Amino acid sequence: MYYFQTNSLKYRDSIAIISDGQSFTYAQLLDKAKEIAVSINLSASSAVAFMVNPGFNYVATQWGIWLAGGIAVPIAVAHPMDSIQYILEDTGAKTFICSENFKSLVADYCSANNIRLIVIGEEVETGKCKVESGTLPSIEMSRGAMILYTSGTTSLPKGVLTTHHTIEAQIKSLVEAWEYTANDHTLCVLPLHHIHGIINVISCTLYVGGKVEFMPSFSPEGIFAAFEKGQLNVFMAVPTIYFKLITYLESLSDEKRTYYKQIMSKFRLMISGSAALPVSVMEKWEALSGQRLLERYGMTEIGMAISNPYHGERRAGHVGMPLPGVQVRLVDEQNKEVTGQPGEIQIKGPNVFKEYWGKQKATEESFVDGWFKTGDVAEIADGYYKILGRNSTDIIKSGGYKLSALEIEEVLRTHSGVSDCSVIGLPDEEWGEVVAAVVILSDKNTSSDALNQFMRTKMPAYRVPRKYLFVEELPRNAMGKVTKNELKKLF
Ligand code: ATP
Ligand code: MG
Repeated sequence: MYYFQTNSLKYRDSIAIISDGQSFTYAQLLDKAKEIAVSINLSASSAVAFMVNPGFNYVATQWGIWLAGGIAVPIAVAHPMDSIQYILEDTGAKTFICSENFKSLVADYCSANNIRLIVIGEEVETGKCKVESGTLPSIEMSRGAMILYTSGTTSLPKGVLTTHHTIEAQIKSLVEAWEYTANDHTLCVLPLHHIHGIINVISCTLYVGGKVEFMPSFSPEGIFAAFEKGQLNVFMAVPTIYFKLITYLESLSDEKRTYYKQIMSKFRLMISGSAALPVSVMEKWEALSGQRLLERYGMTEIGMAISNPYHGERRAGHVGMPLPGVQVRLVDEQNKEVTGQPGEIQIKGPNVFKEYWGKQKATEESFVDGWFKTGDVAEIADGYYKILGRNSTDIIKSGGYKLSALEIEEVLRTHSGVSDCSVIGLPDEEWGEVVAAVVILSDKNTSSDALNQFMRTKMPAYRVPRKYLFVEELPRNAMGKVTKNELKKLF
């Protein structure tokens, strides 16, 4: 039996989910999943899209699709109709499950396109669990389990197909490395159409019999109110969320800040990922919360691959070492392994996805000798991987040099007038590319001349940005990642 079936019997009366002020047991979760599976009633394995509010029904729907033998395709609740349409067309899903509140948004499209719409109600039977082990279908582990779309940071999101085997390997590796236990009580604030929320937060916690608590929507006040209840002990977020929480904490009185620090100090673990964690954010968070963030590196195609240690030094600006079961190598442009210099990260292991959905050529092109080509560049210092950025947008090729935008951003952020920034390469006839910086100022009197002088004292001239552009906000996607292709258009 698959983990969620075994667990629902093993932990049947334990709380699995807390959402909308209610607690739900593992047995109730599996009961609801079975009910949904019956309504799905698939004749053959196929993609089933679902757009369900974060909470009990979300997890029950995912499990229900798996019990019905389908491939779960989660759609973000914030998606506008054209993004929903893109995913429905790309996956060819002919069944769509949604919460009541999305019915009016999608109903017309579904009927016009022959898509069966199943609306799931909020009511949950709180009676005794009806689930018995003999009545559970067996799940073929090599079968497609999920299609997750990449964040769309560099181009249109790609559908990434994983099997149940892949998912289980991704979960097991993290459970071992980060030592999840049944005592874990994890807060889920991330959007649930990406691997970070789905695997690291929900699946890993439920794999060990822990509890997942959902927040209806993101707000710093809501997060601290949840922390204040004193039950939570694991928190995972993206750098922009930590940034927002820091800004909020800084606006509070000393007394209130000390109070929250006491609460947060008791957490077992706080993690950051999905984008580079600025060193300044890591340091400020540690001072405010007493927690040294554990930064890790992963992507939709591979799950999590590299992580700072749970025990041992969590090094700022670095993502740590390969996770259990994951093979990592750095290669040059000829795919030859390199040591002591930067190279592209390539990954092998049971955690790696099966294929880009419907894109055989793209799938073939993304592998070499069984290694998945991430397109991210890194180097190793004292055994710790350091991400230098995406080859496509963060590695700036200027006058024969390869410059890491992430490293330049780190330095620029240390200027007292800079709140945040993003560095890109702009096409240039003479140099190939030149460095440009888009900056959010905390001190509006800071000039580009001042920044230029500052940067010249910190790094060789060829790395110093030639152009500065001041903005109020950086363009970001749902995961809080700066969309650098959008930024380039600003120049
Ligand atoms: P798309 O592939 O559609 O352009 P995306 O690459 O942002 O979008 P994801 O799979 O969600 O989609 O993100 C994976 C990428 O996020 C990685 O390839 C890497 O560039 C970046 N990333 C993840 N964790 C970190 C980290 N700790 N530090 C730096 N970058 C990270
Ligand atoms: Mg990507």
